[in-house]
Amino acid sequence: MLDFTLTPEQSDLQGRARAFAVEEILPLAWYFDEQDQTPLRILRRAYEAGFTNTDIPKPYGGKGLGLLESAILTEEFAAACPGLATSIFDNSLGMEPLILSDNEPLKERYLPRILNDFKLICFATSEPTMGSDVSGIRCLAEPDGDDFILNGTKYWITNGGLADYMSIFATTDPKLQHKGIGAFLVEREWEGVLVGRPIPKMGQRCSNTVGLHFTNVRVPKENVIAPPGKGFVLAMKTFSRTRPIIGAFATGAARAALDYSIDYAKKRRAFGSRIADNQAIQFKLAEMYQKVETSRLLTWKGAWEADSGMDPTVTASIAKFYASEAAVEVLNDALQIFAGYGYTKMYPIEKLLRDVRLLRIYEGTSEIQRMIVAGHLLGSYEPSLPPLEDMALHREKDPETLDENTGVFRCRMCGYVHYGDEAPEACPYCFFPKSAFKQIE
Ligand SMILES: Cc1cc2nc3c(=O)[nH]c(=O)nc-3n(C[C@H](O)[C@H](O)[C@H](O)COP(=O)(O)OP(=O)(O)OC[C@H]3O[C@@H](n4cnc5c(N)ncnc54)[C@H](O)[C@@H]3O)c2cc1C
Repeated sequence: MLDFTLTPEQSDLQGRARAFAVEEILPLAWYFDEQDQTPLRILRRAYEAGFTNTDIPKPYGGKGLGLLESAILTEEFAAACPGLATSIFDNSLGMEPLILSDNEPLKERYLPRILNDFKLICFATSEPTMGSDVSGIRCLAEPDGDDFILNGTKYWITNGGLADYMSIFATTDPKLQHKGIGAFLVEREWEGVLVGRPIPKMGQRCSNTVGLHFTNVRVPKENVIAPPGKGFVLAMKTFSRTRPIIGAFATGAARAALDYSIDYAKKRRAFGSRIADNQAIQFKLAEMYQKVETSRLLTWKGAWEADSGMDPTVTASIAKFYASEAAVEVLNDALQIFAGYGYTKMYPIEKLLRDVRLLRIYEGTSEIQRMIVAGHLLGSYEPSLPPLEDMALHREKDPETLDENTGVFRCRMCGYVHYGDEAPEACPYCFFPKSAFKQIE
Protein backbone atom coordinates (compact mmCIF):
# COMPACT_ATOMS: atom_id res chain seq x y z
CA MET A 1 0.00 0.00 0.00
CA LEU A 2 1.24 3.46 -0.85
CA ASP A 3 0.71 6.03 1.90
CA PHE A 4 2.21 9.48 2.35
CA THR A 5 0.64 10.07 5.76
CA LEU A 6 3.05 10.68 8.59
CA THR A 7 2.47 8.70 11.78
CA PRO A 8 1.40 10.72 14.86
CA GLU A 9 4.96 10.33 16.18
CA GLN A 10 6.45 11.64 12.94
CA SER A 11 4.00 14.56 12.85
CA ASP A 12 4.89 15.39 16.42
CA LEU A 13 8.61 15.25 15.60
CA GLN A 14 8.04 17.52 12.61
CA GLY A 15 6.10 20.02 14.73
CA ARG A 16 8.73 20.10 17.45
CA ALA A 17 11.55 20.42 14.92
CA ARG A 18 9.74 23.27 13.17
CA ALA A 19 9.29 25.11 16.47
CA PHE A 20 12.98 24.58 17.31
CA ALA A 21 14.00 25.82 13.86
CA VAL A 22 11.88 28.96 14.12
CA GLU A 23 12.61 29.77 17.77
CA GLU A 24 16.24 28.69 18.15
CA ILE A 25 17.92 28.62 14.72
CA LEU A 26 16.25 31.34 12.67
CA PRO A 27 16.99 34.28 15.00
CA LEU A 28 20.72 33.47 15.08
CA ALA A 29 21.47 32.15 11.60
CA TRP A 30 22.20 35.44 9.83
CA TYR A 31 24.34 36.74 12.68
CA PHE A 32 26.52 33.64 12.78
CA ASP A 33 26.71 33.52 8.99
CA GLU A 34 28.13 37.04 9.10
CA GLN A 35 30.53 35.99 11.88
CA ASP A 36 31.53 32.86 9.92
CA GLN A 37 31.08 30.81 13.11
CA THR A 38 29.21 27.73 14.22
CA PRO A 39 27.16 28.46 17.36
CA LEU A 40 27.99 25.39 19.39
CA ARG A 41 25.17 26.22 21.80
CA ILE A 42 22.61 25.52 19.06
CA LEU A 43 24.17 22.12 18.41
CA ARG A 44 24.00 21.46 22.12
CA ARG A 45 20.36 22.55 22.32
CA ALA A 46 19.51 20.32 19.36
CA TYR A 47 21.20 17.47 21.23
CA GLU A 48 19.36 18.25 24.46
CA ALA A 49 16.05 18.43 22.60
CA GLY A 50 16.70 14.93 21.22
CA PHE A 51 17.08 16.01 17.59
CA THR A 52 20.56 14.54 17.07
CA ASN A 53 21.76 10.94 17.15
CA THR A 54 18.20 9.76 16.49
CA ASP A 55 19.55 6.90 14.37
CA ILE A 56 21.58 5.21 17.12
CA PRO A 57 20.08 1.71 17.24
CA LYS A 58 18.08 0.64 20.29
CA PRO A 59 20.59 -2.05 21.42
CA TYR A 60 23.05 0.78 22.13
CA GLY A 61 20.46 2.82 24.02
CA GLY A 62 19.36 4.96 21.08
CA LYS A 63 15.93 5.69 19.66
CA GLY A 64 16.65 3.66 16.53
CA LEU A 65 14.67 6.06 14.36
CA GLY A 66 14.82 5.75 10.61
CA LEU A 67 16.18 7.87 7.81
CA LEU A 68 12.69 9.21 7.16
CA GLU A 69 12.68 10.79 10.62
CA SER A 70 16.12 12.27 9.87
CA ALA A 71 14.75 13.68 6.61
CA ILE A 72 11.77 15.20 8.42
CA LEU A 73 14.01 16.83 11.03
CA THR A 74 16.57 18.03 8.51
CA GLU A 75 14.02 19.67 6.23
CA GLU A 76 12.82 21.80 9.15
CA PHE A 77 16.30 22.82 10.29
CA ALA A 78 17.46 23.55 6.74
CA ALA A 79 14.44 25.81 6.19
CA ALA A 80 15.88 27.99 8.95
CA CYS A 81 19.58 27.60 8.12
CA PRO A 82 21.12 25.00 5.78
CA GLY A 83 24.55 25.56 7.36
CA LEU A 84 23.40 24.82 10.88
CA ALA A 85 21.33 21.90 9.58
CA THR A 86 24.54 20.48 8.07
CA SER A 87 26.35 20.75 11.38
CA ILE A 88 23.40 19.31 13.32
CA PHE A 89 23.10 16.31 10.96
CA ASP A 90 26.86 15.76 10.81
CA ASN A 91 26.87 13.43 13.84
CA SER A 92 24.72 11.02 11.83
CA LEU A 93 27.18 11.17 8.92
CA GLY A 94 30.13 10.70 11.27
CA MET A 95 28.47 7.80 13.10
CA GLU A 96 27.10 5.96 10.08
CA PRO A 97 30.35 4.03 9.35
CA LEU A 98 30.40 2.94 13.01
CA ILE A 99 26.73 1.91 12.94
CA LEU A 100 27.36 -0.12 9.76
CA SER A 101 30.58 -1.61 11.15
CA ASP A 102 31.00 -5.22 12.31
CA ASN A 103 33.11 -4.06 15.27
CA GLU A 104 30.59 -4.62 18.09
CA PRO A 105 32.87 -3.68 21.02
CA LEU A 106 33.70 -0.39 19.29
CA LYS A 107 30.00 0.40 18.88
CA GLU A 108 29.32 -0.53 22.49
CA ARG A 109 32.12 1.79 23.60
CA TYR A 110 31.42 4.89 21.51
CA LEU A 111 27.70 4.98 20.63
CA PRO A 112 26.53 5.30 24.27
CA ARG A 113 29.14 8.01 24.87
CA ILE A 114 27.84 9.97 21.87
CA LEU A 115 24.30 9.43 23.10
CA ASN A 116 24.78 10.22 26.77
CA ASP A 117 27.25 13.10 26.55
CA PHE A 118 27.23 15.95 24.10
CA LYS A 119 29.89 14.43 21.82
CA LEU A 120 30.41 15.33 18.18
CA ILE A 121 31.79 12.98 15.56
CA CYS A 122 32.85 13.96 12.04
CA PHE A 123 33.36 12.02 8.82
CA ALA A 124 36.48 12.25 6.67
CA THR A 125 37.16 10.75 3.30
CA SER A 126 38.16 13.97 1.43
CA GLU A 127 41.70 15.29 1.23
CA PRO A 128 43.37 18.35 -0.32
CA THR A 129 44.09 16.39 -3.50
CA MET A 130 40.88 14.37 -3.82
CA GLY A 131 37.17 14.46 -3.08
CA SER A 132 35.16 12.70 -5.77
CA ASP A 133 37.67 9.92 -6.30
CA VAL A 134 37.52 8.26 -2.89
CA SER A 135 39.80 5.45 -4.10
CA GLY A 136 42.55 8.11 -4.42
CA ILE A 137 42.93 8.53 -0.64
CA ARG A 138 46.55 9.21 0.33
CA CYS A 139 46.29 9.53 4.10
CA LEU A 140 48.35 6.59 5.35
CA ALA A 141 47.32 3.98 7.90
CA GLU A 142 50.42 1.82 8.26
CA PRO A 143 50.13 -1.37 10.30
CA ASP A 144 52.33 -1.45 13.39
CA GLY A 145 51.76 -4.76 15.12
CA ASP A 146 48.01 -4.86 15.58
CA ASP A 147 47.75 -1.06 15.65
CA PHE A 148 47.82 1.44 12.79
CA ILE A 149 49.84 4.63 12.51
CA LEU A 150 48.07 7.51 10.75
CA ASN A 151 49.94 10.11 8.73
CA GLY A 152 48.35 12.56 6.33
CA THR A 153 45.76 15.27 5.87
CA LYS A 154 41.99 15.31 5.56
CA TYR A 155 40.30 18.41 4.15
CA TRP A 156 36.83 19.98 4.02
CA ILE A 157 35.79 18.20 7.20
CA THR A 158 32.42 19.40 8.50
CA ASN A 159 32.50 19.93 12.28
CA GLY A 160 36.16 18.82 12.22
CA GLY A 161 37.06 21.78 14.44
CA LEU A 162 34.40 20.87 17.01
CA ALA A 163 34.34 17.08 16.95
CA ASP A 164 35.49 14.88 19.80
CA TYR A 165 35.65 11.82 17.54
CA MET A 166 36.49 11.33 13.89
CA SER A 167 35.66 8.59 11.38
CA ILE A 168 38.83 8.67 9.30
CA PHE A 169 39.25 6.81 6.01
CA ALA A 170 42.90 6.05 5.25
CA THR A 171 44.96 3.61 3.20
CA THR A 172 47.76 1.17 3.86
CA ASP A 173 49.14 2.00 0.39
CA PRO A 174 47.74 4.57 -2.08
CA LYS A 175 48.79 2.31 -4.97
CA LEU A 176 46.23 -0.27 -3.82
CA GLN A 177 43.44 2.27 -4.49
CA HIS A 178 40.10 1.07 -3.04
CA LYS A 179 41.66 -2.24 -1.94
CA GLY A 180 43.90 -0.46 0.59
CA ILE A 181 41.31 1.73 2.31
CA GLY A 182 40.17 1.17 5.89
CA ALA A 183 38.23 3.27 8.40
CA PHE A 184 39.43 4.27 11.87
CA LEU A 185 37.83 5.93 14.87
CA VAL A 186 40.20 8.63 16.08
CA GLU A 187 39.84 10.84 19.12
CA ARG A 188 40.64 14.51 18.80
CA GLU A 189 42.71 14.51 21.97
CA TRP A 190 45.11 11.83 20.78
CA GLU A 191 48.73 12.83 20.28
CA GLY A 192 49.52 13.88 16.73
CA VAL A 193 46.02 15.12 15.81
CA LEU A 194 46.07 18.70 14.54
CA VAL A 195 42.97 20.72 13.63
CA GLY A 196 43.32 23.42 10.97
CA ARG A 197 41.78 26.89 10.83
CA PRO A 198 38.13 27.13 9.74
CA ILE A 199 38.08 27.34 5.93
CA PRO A 200 36.47 30.63 4.75
CA LYS A 201 33.52 29.73 2.52
CA MET A 202 30.95 31.26 0.17
CA GLY A 203 27.98 29.78 2.07
CA GLN A 204 27.04 27.48 4.93
CA ARG A 205 29.23 29.74 7.02
CA CYS A 206 27.40 28.58 10.18
CA SER A 207 28.88 25.15 9.53
CA ASN A 208 32.43 24.53 10.66
CA THR A 209 34.74 23.16 7.92
CA VAL A 210 38.42 22.46 8.56
CA GLY A 211 41.43 20.39 7.59
CA LEU A 212 42.73 17.69 9.91
CA HIS A 213 46.38 16.67 10.02
CA PHE A 214 47.75 13.45 11.49
CA THR A 215 51.37 12.94 12.50
CA ASN A 216 52.18 9.44 13.71
CA VAL A 217 48.77 9.06 15.35
CA ARG A 218 48.54 5.60 16.89
CA VAL A 219 45.14 3.98 16.35
CA PRO A 220 44.73 0.88 18.53
CA LYS A 221 43.32 -2.14 16.75
CA GLU A 222 40.15 -1.84 18.85
CA ASN A 223 39.38 1.41 16.99
CA VAL A 224 39.33 -0.08 13.51
CA ILE A 225 35.85 0.61 12.10
CA ALA A 226 36.66 -1.28 8.90
CA PRO A 227 39.92 -3.10 8.16
CA PRO A 228 41.99 -2.15 5.09
CA GLY A 229 40.18 -3.38 1.99
CA LYS A 230 36.73 -2.86 3.52
CA GLY A 231 36.74 0.90 3.98
CA PHE A 232 35.86 1.95 0.44
CA VAL A 233 32.64 -0.09 0.36
CA LEU A 234 31.79 1.18 3.84
CA ALA A 235 32.18 4.79 2.65
CA MET A 236 29.92 4.10 -0.34
CA LYS A 237 27.30 2.42 1.89
CA THR A 238 27.46 5.41 4.21
CA PHE A 239 26.82 7.83 1.34
CA SER A 240 23.87 5.75 0.12
CA ARG A 241 22.25 6.30 3.50
CA THR A 242 23.18 9.94 3.97
CA ARG A 243 22.58 11.31 0.46
CA PRO A 244 18.78 11.40 0.82
CA ILE A 245 19.43 13.85 3.65
CA ILE A 246 21.10 16.23 1.20
CA GLY A 247 17.73 16.09 -0.57
CA ALA A 248 16.13 17.10 2.74
CA PHE A 249 18.51 20.08 3.12
CA ALA A 250 17.54 21.15 -0.40
CA THR A 251 13.81 20.67 0.22
CA GLY A 252 13.92 22.71 3.41
CA ALA A 253 15.91 25.59 1.94
CA ALA A 254 13.78 25.68 -1.22
CA ARG A 255 10.58 25.57 0.85
CA ALA A 256 11.80 28.52 2.89
CA ALA A 257 12.55 30.47 -0.29
CA LEU A 258 9.05 29.68 -1.56
CA ASP A 259 7.42 30.80 1.71
CA TYR A 260 9.37 34.05 1.72
CA SER A 261 8.56 34.62 -1.97
CA ILE A 262 4.81 34.13 -1.53
CA ASP A 263 4.83 36.57 1.36
CA TYR A 264 6.84 39.15 -0.57
CA ALA A 265 4.91 38.78 -3.82
CA LYS A 266 1.60 39.43 -2.02
CA LYS A 267 2.91 42.63 -0.44
CA ARG A 268 5.21 44.20 -3.00
CA ARG A 269 3.43 46.51 -5.43
CA ALA A 270 4.41 47.57 -8.93
CA PHE A 271 2.39 49.28 -11.68
CA GLY A 272 -0.51 49.73 -9.31
CA SER A 273 -1.00 46.11 -8.24
CA ARG A 274 0.65 43.36 -6.20
CA ILE A 275 3.46 41.65 -8.09
CA ALA A 276 1.67 38.38 -7.17
CA ASP A 277 -1.10 39.43 -9.59
CA ASN A 278 1.24 39.01 -12.54
CA GLN A 279 1.06 35.61 -14.19
CA ALA A 280 4.83 35.68 -14.70
CA ILE A 281 5.29 35.73 -10.90
CA GLN A 282 2.50 33.18 -10.34
CA PHE A 283 4.13 30.74 -12.76
CA LYS A 284 7.46 31.15 -10.99
CA LEU A 285 5.78 30.36 -7.65
CA ALA A 286 4.00 27.33 -9.15
CA GLU A 287 7.24 25.92 -10.52
CA MET A 288 9.06 26.58 -7.25
CA TYR A 289 6.37 24.62 -5.41
CA GLN A 290 6.55 21.82 -7.99
CA LYS A 291 10.30 21.53 -7.31
CA VAL A 292 9.86 21.56 -3.52
CA GLU A 293 7.23 18.81 -3.68
CA THR A 294 9.23 16.68 -6.14
CA SER A 295 12.36 17.06 -4.02
CA ARG A 296 10.54 15.90 -0.91
CA LEU A 297 8.99 12.92 -2.67
CA LEU A 298 12.36 11.74 -3.97
CA THR A 299 14.02 12.35 -0.62
CA TRP A 300 11.36 10.43 1.29
CA LYS A 301 11.47 7.60 -1.24
CA GLY A 302 15.24 7.26 -0.72
CA ALA A 303 14.74 7.32 3.05
CA TRP A 304 11.87 4.83 2.84
CA GLU A 305 13.99 2.44 0.76
CA ALA A 306 16.79 2.60 3.33
CA ASP A 307 14.35 2.11 6.23
CA SER A 308 12.72 -0.83 4.42
CA GLY A 309 16.06 -2.63 4.12
CA MET A 310 16.34 -2.01 0.38
CA ASP A 311 19.49 -0.69 -1.28
CA PRO A 312 18.76 3.05 -1.57
CA THR A 313 21.86 3.88 -3.66
CA VAL A 314 20.18 4.88 -6.92
CA THR A 315 17.23 6.76 -5.42
CA ALA A 316 19.61 8.46 -2.99
CA SER A 317 21.67 9.75 -5.92
CA ILE A 318 18.60 10.86 -7.88
CA ALA A 319 17.21 12.61 -4.81
CA LYS A 320 20.53 14.32 -4.17
CA PHE A 321 21.17 15.66 -7.62
CA TYR A 322 17.56 16.50 -8.42
CA ALA A 323 16.82 18.28 -5.15
CA SER A 324 20.13 20.11 -4.88
CA GLU A 325 19.87 21.46 -8.43
CA ALA A 326 16.17 22.28 -7.97
CA ALA A 327 17.01 24.21 -4.78
CA VAL A 328 19.51 26.38 -6.63
CA GLU A 329 16.86 27.06 -9.31
CA VAL A 330 14.21 27.85 -6.69
CA LEU A 331 16.56 30.24 -4.89
CA ASN A 332 17.44 31.95 -8.16
CA ASP A 333 13.75 32.44 -8.92
CA ALA A 334 13.17 33.71 -5.38
CA LEU A 335 15.95 36.24 -5.81
CA GLN A 336 14.34 37.41 -9.05
CA ILE A 337 11.02 37.88 -7.26
CA PHE A 338 12.69 39.87 -4.49
CA ALA A 339 14.82 41.65 -7.13
CA GLY A 340 16.90 44.42 -5.52
CA TYR A 341 16.04 43.47 -1.94
CA GLY A 342 16.80 39.84 -2.73
CA TYR A 343 20.34 40.84 -3.55
CA THR A 344 20.90 42.42 -0.14
CA LYS A 345 21.96 40.85 3.13
CA MET A 346 18.92 42.38 4.86
CA TYR A 347 16.61 39.82 3.21
CA PRO A 348 16.97 36.04 3.51
CA ILE A 349 17.41 34.98 -0.12
CA GLU A 350 21.04 35.96 -0.62
CA LYS A 351 22.25 33.73 2.24
CA LEU A 352 20.03 30.81 1.30
CA LEU A 353 21.31 30.94 -2.29
CA ARG A 354 24.91 30.85 -1.05
CA ASP A 355 24.04 28.01 1.32
CA VAL A 356 22.27 25.75 -1.18
CA ARG A 357 25.04 26.02 -3.77
CA LEU A 358 27.12 23.64 -1.64
CA LEU A 359 24.47 20.91 -1.88
CA ARG A 360 25.55 20.21 -5.47
CA ILE A 361 29.10 19.59 -4.25
CA TYR A 362 29.47 17.76 -0.95
CA GLU A 363 28.74 14.05 -0.43
CA GLY A 364 29.43 13.54 -4.14
CA THR A 365 28.96 16.21 -6.78
CA SER A 366 26.00 16.25 -9.17
CA GLU A 367 28.32 14.78 -11.80
CA ILE A 368 29.20 11.83 -9.54
CA GLN A 369 25.49 11.22 -8.85
CA ARG A 370 24.81 11.16 -12.60
CA MET A 371 27.64 8.63 -13.00
CA ILE A 372 26.09 6.39 -10.34
CA VAL A 373 22.63 6.55 -11.92
CA ALA A 374 23.97 6.06 -15.45
CA GLY A 375 26.06 3.09 -14.26
CA HIS A 376 22.89 1.53 -12.87
CA LEU A 377 20.89 2.20 -16.04
CA LEU A 378 23.53 0.63 -18.25
CA GLY A 379 24.16 -2.25 -15.84
CA SER A 380 21.63 -3.81 -13.48
CA TYR A 381 18.54 -1.78 -14.48
CA GLU A 382 15.66 -4.04 -15.55
CA PRO A 383 13.62 -2.52 -18.40
CA SER A 384 9.86 -3.04 -18.38
CA LEU A 385 9.48 -3.44 -22.16
CA PRO A 386 10.93 -6.14 -24.42
CA PRO A 387 14.08 -5.33 -26.44
CA LEU A 388 13.39 -3.32 -29.60
CA GLU A 389 14.66 -6.10 -31.84
CA ASP A 390 11.84 -8.35 -30.57
CA MET A 391 9.09 -5.87 -31.38
CA ALA A 392 7.16 -5.69 -34.66
CA LEU A 393 6.19 -2.03 -34.72
CA HIS A 394 5.63 -1.10 -38.36
CA ARG A 395 3.27 -3.99 -39.14
CA GLU A 396 1.57 -4.49 -42.44
CA LYS A 397 -0.77 -7.10 -40.99
CA ASP A 398 -3.01 -7.19 -37.93
CA PRO A 399 -1.45 -9.87 -35.65
CA GLU A 400 -4.91 -11.24 -34.82
CA THR A 401 -5.67 -12.05 -38.45
CA LEU A 402 -2.40 -13.89 -39.02
CA ASP A 403 -2.39 -17.61 -39.72
CA GLU A 404 -0.63 -19.21 -36.75
CA ASN A 405 1.86 -20.88 -39.08
CA THR A 406 3.00 -17.59 -40.57
CA GLY A 407 6.41 -16.56 -39.31
CA VAL A 408 7.12 -12.95 -38.42
CA PHE A 409 10.70 -11.80 -39.08
CA ARG A 410 12.16 -8.42 -38.18
CA CYS A 411 15.13 -6.79 -39.84
CA ARG A 412 17.45 -5.94 -36.94
CA MET A 413 18.87 -3.01 -38.86
CA CYS A 414 15.90 -0.97 -40.14
CA GLY A 415 12.92 -2.59 -38.36
CA TYR A 416 11.11 -3.90 -41.48
CA VAL A 417 8.68 -6.71 -40.56
CA HIS A 418 8.44 -9.61 -43.01
CA TYR A 419 5.75 -12.33 -42.99
CA GLY A 420 6.35 -15.81 -44.39
CA ASP A 421 7.93 -19.19 -43.81
CA GLU A 422 11.40 -17.72 -43.73
CA ALA A 423 13.24 -14.42 -43.83
CA PRO A 424 13.72 -12.76 -47.23
CA GLU A 425 17.08 -13.04 -49.02
CA ALA A 426 17.57 -9.30 -48.46
CA CYS A 427 15.69 -6.51 -46.74
CA PRO A 428 13.66 -4.51 -49.30
CA TYR A 429 14.33 -1.30 -47.34
CA CYS A 430 17.94 -1.37 -46.17
CA PHE A 431 19.22 -4.27 -48.35
CA PHE A 432 20.81 -6.08 -45.39
CA PRO A 433 21.07 -9.85 -46.01
CA LYS A 434 18.84 -12.60 -44.63
CA SER A 435 21.18 -13.02 -41.62
CA ALA A 436 20.06 -9.58 -40.37
CA PHE A 437 16.52 -10.94 -39.74
CA LYS A 438 15.31 -12.32 -36.44
CA GLN A 439 12.16 -14.42 -36.14
CA ILE A 440 10.06 -12.76 -33.44
CA GLU A 441 6.74 -14.56 -33.67
C1 LIG B 1 31.69 22.97 2.87
C2 LIG B 1 32.14 21.58 2.56
C3 LIG B 1 31.96 20.59 3.51
C4 LIG B 1 32.42 19.29 3.25
N1 LIG B 1 32.32 18.33 4.23
C5 LIG B 1 32.97 17.15 4.06
C6 LIG B 1 33.05 16.20 5.14
O1 LIG B 1 32.49 16.40 6.23
N2 LIG B 1 33.76 15.06 4.94
C7 LIG B 1 34.39 14.79 3.76
O2 LIG B 1 35.03 13.75 3.66
N3 LIG B 1 34.31 15.67 2.72
C8 LIG B 1 33.64 16.83 2.84
N4 LIG B 1 33.58 17.73 1.81
C9 LIG B 1 34.27 17.42 0.56
C10 LIG B 1 33.31 17.15 -0.58
O3 LIG B 1 32.70 15.90 -0.40
C11 LIG B 1 34.10 17.27 -1.90
O4 LIG B 1 34.38 18.64 -2.09
C12 LIG B 1 33.34 16.70 -3.06
O5 LIG B 1 33.22 15.31 -2.96
C13 LIG B 1 34.01 17.05 -4.40
O6 LIG B 1 35.37 16.79 -4.35
P1 LIG B 1 36.43 17.89 -4.83
O7 LIG B 1 36.03 19.19 -4.25
O8 LIG B 1 37.78 17.37 -4.53
O9 LIG B 1 36.22 17.98 -6.40
P2 LIG B 1 36.96 17.06 -7.49
O10 LIG B 1 36.79 15.63 -7.15
O11 LIG B 1 38.33 17.57 -7.69
O12 LIG B 1 36.08 17.38 -8.78
C14 LIG B 1 36.21 18.63 -9.48
C15 LIG B 1 35.14 18.66 -10.56
O13 LIG B 1 35.33 17.58 -11.48
C16 LIG B 1 34.16 16.79 -11.57
N5 LIG B 1 34.53 15.40 -11.76
C17 LIG B 1 35.42 14.66 -11.06
N6 LIG B 1 35.50 13.43 -11.56
C18 LIG B 1 34.62 13.37 -12.61
C19 LIG B 1 34.24 12.35 -13.52
N7 LIG B 1 34.76 11.13 -13.47
N8 LIG B 1 33.31 12.66 -14.46
C20 LIG B 1 32.77 13.89 -14.52
N9 LIG B 1 33.10 14.89 -13.70
C21 LIG B 1 34.01 14.63 -12.73
C22 LIG B 1 33.45 17.02 -10.25
O14 LIG B 1 32.06 16.73 -10.37
C23 LIG B 1 33.72 18.48 -10.01
O15 LIG B 1 32.83 19.25 -10.78
C24 LIG B 1 33.04 19.00 2.01
C25 LIG B 1 33.19 20.01 1.06
C26 LIG B 1 32.76 21.28 1.32
C27 LIG B 1 32.98 22.35 0.27
